Amino acid sequence: MRDDHDVSDAAIPAASGAARPLNTLLARMPSVERVIASAGAQPLIELHGRTQVLAAIRATLDGWRRDAQAGALTVSAGGPEPFAIDDALANATRSLDARAQSRLRTVFNLTGTVLHTNLGRALLPDEAVRAVVQALTQPANLEFDLATGKRGDRDDLIDDLICELTGAEAATVVNNNAAAVLLSLSALATRKDVIVSRGELVEIGGAFRIPDIMGRAGARLREVGTTNRTHLRDYEAAIDARTALLMKVHCSNYAISGFTKSVELDELAPLAKRHGLPVAVDLGSGTLTDLTQWGLPAEPTVRATVEAGADLVTFSGDKLLGGPQAGLIVGRKDLIAKIKKHPLKRALRVGKLTLAALEPVLRLYRAPEFLRERLTTLRLLTRPAAGMQAAAARALPALQQALGDAYAASAEPMFSQIGSGALPADVLPSFGLVVRHAGKGGSGRALMKLERALRALPRPVIGRIADDALRLDLRCVESADEAAFVAQLAELRL
Ligand SMILES: *Cc1c(COP(=O)(O)O)cnc(C)c1O
Repeated sequence: MRDDHDVSDAAIPAASGAARPLNTLLARMPSVERVIASAGAQPLIELHGRTQVLAAIRATLDGWRRDAQAGALTVSAGGPEPFAIDDALANATRSLDARAQSRLRTVFNLTGTVLHTNLGRALLPDEAVRAVVQALTQPANLEFDLATGKRGDRDDLIDDLICELTGAEAATVVNNNAAAVLLSLSALATRKDVIVSRGELVEIGGAFRIPDIMGRAGARLREVGTTNRTHLRDYEAAIDARTALLMKVHCSNYAISGFTKSVELDELAPLAKRHGLPVAVDLGSGTLTDLTQWGLPAEPTVRATVEAGADLVTFSGDKLLGGPQAGLIVGRKDLIAKIKKHPLKRALRVGKLTLAALEPVLRLYRAPEFLRERLTTLRLLTRPAAGMQAAAARALPALQQALGDAYAASAEPMFSQIGSGALPADVLPSFGLVVRHAGKGGSGRALMKLERALRALPRPVIGRIADDALRLDLRCVESADEAAFVAQLAELRL
């Protein structure tokens, strides 16, 4: 029962100097014990445990008390109970649900960039996912030689396969390609010179800069040539007793055009050999197969790089290769042995999850006939435009309905990118949904509002604003996800 006679007839600003009304107001607040003992608290306790529910209720009541003391709470006679137990529970439920939601959320990648570094790069094929689950839930011979019963080397699980696919003599795997470069330089070039063309001193997104990595590895960078032109004679003139290594870096994320000259590996390798020096190539994306067979732009394969005379090649596991985050190092046996002995190898080594995921991905390359279908990254990169066009047409009515009159949506052709620095100048014909502001006035603000609303959906939708329109590229929404994408559009709140 309410005892409304405690509350004076007009609205009470609780902190208006009237201590008595404030006290009587606070006296009506239920205790934490009463709230948690109520029937409505039971399901919450079963879901989250008593500890968390207690804390959430306490935080709710503390908030109410602060509001009352600050005068932010007004109560009128005959009005609704200001401190209802149901309200306390509803409040606690909201905060418990928010806390229980994973921070790592599944999203829709409609950016048009298939290997999007900020959205987790390559998606793993089912074989790899199954292997990861197995490795997570069962013991495995990670560093155990089943033939001898002795301690094994985790690289042994995978190096044969990498050598088979690349033609290299030896291989090892570390945390990512940045680690692969850092480790290689640390093992082979500390306190010595590494010769690199000025045209290849690149920064890859996320603060990977060749000169910085070089410094961290304790190697001296010896720059040769100019930004646009480097000749073989520039490398030759720089070689002296302090030289440890000649290095080439794949210009992943930019292209120089016009009056340019760079020295190709097949010219550089013989020069290095004459001087008894190794050539290392940071290939970046490093594909294991010729992508032009599927109509994709040409990208040097690891095998071709090894054949052209590279003594060491480093590349990423989660770019064009289509596997988990990893850095692969392949090359001459003696160099790989040195790298594996370096103390940093222990610090940069991969865990069993990475190895479990990488092996089945590499196996897929043994059957090139099935690769396009089974390797998720390649399947997305080679999706026929007709399929995406049909998907755009199917999604359009639901999108327009969710948008209302303020925006106009249409299904249009567009261009996707491979991403992760691979082939920056090349684009893939794609199809998707384009949304423009239909009202008067600037569209910038309206498009940003729409972008925010899409990100606030249960499964956030990440698009891209360009040319006064929000573009939703459907390349990365495969058929299994299409219905979920369309269904949640009804929840869009603009
Ligand atoms: C992407 C890239 C790297 C960094 O690789 P991560 O696997 O992201 O560490 C290094 N060098 C080049 C040329 C790259 O393209």
